[in-house]
Amino acid sequence: MEAIPPRSLDDLHRGIRSHGGCGFQLCEAATNMVPGEGSPTAQVMLVGEAPGATEDELGRPFVGRSGRLLDELLAEAGLDRADVFITNVVKARPPGNRDPRADEVAHWMPWLEAQLALIRPRLVVPLGRHALAHFSDGAKISEVHGKLVHERGRALFPLYHPAAALRSRALREAAFADARALAAVLRAAG
Ligand code: URA
Repeated sequence: MEAIPPRSLDDLHRGIRSHGGCGFQLCEAATNMVPGEGSPTAQVMLVGEAPGATEDELGRPFVGRSGRLLDELLAEAGLDRADVFITNVVKARPPGNRDPRADEVAHWMPWLEAQLALIRPRLVVPLGRHALAHFSDGAKISEVHGKLVHERGRALFPLYHPAAALRSRALREAAFADARALAAVLRAAG
């Protein structure tokens, strides 16, 4: 993390895009870093796990198959990509799409926390169990998905990861029901 705090999201994202030289395999192997994108004043921030192959190629979050399903889930929740901010816990693709390791998640944590501090979303939507683990000390995605929960002073609305929903019809149906529940929570919050 830079010694001088970033002045703006653009500033932070420039730092993420030029990140390297840390010795972490995923940072050295990435084609493009994927800082995230969306509204800098978003009230809702979605946080996935890590970029995949398409995201690594394009430098944008959720632009592959999972991204297309995420767009459908956002529409079901009455949201558009332009309304929200979408990022990942880890900003570089783990080689071979393996899960990010704990030390890699810890390595990228200051950048995620800086994004949260600059955007100050009212609601964080962790996508899947890995993202949820960053925000919660022990909540299980199978128990808290589609529910408003408060952890460490943050309002969370966890959803199943779109990649998991692509693999299971039951999770896909749950994800769409959860997206409708998210729409209701957002309506109630005004
Ligand atoms: N899966 C993620 O967790 N993030 C992406 O950006 C794409 C797929």
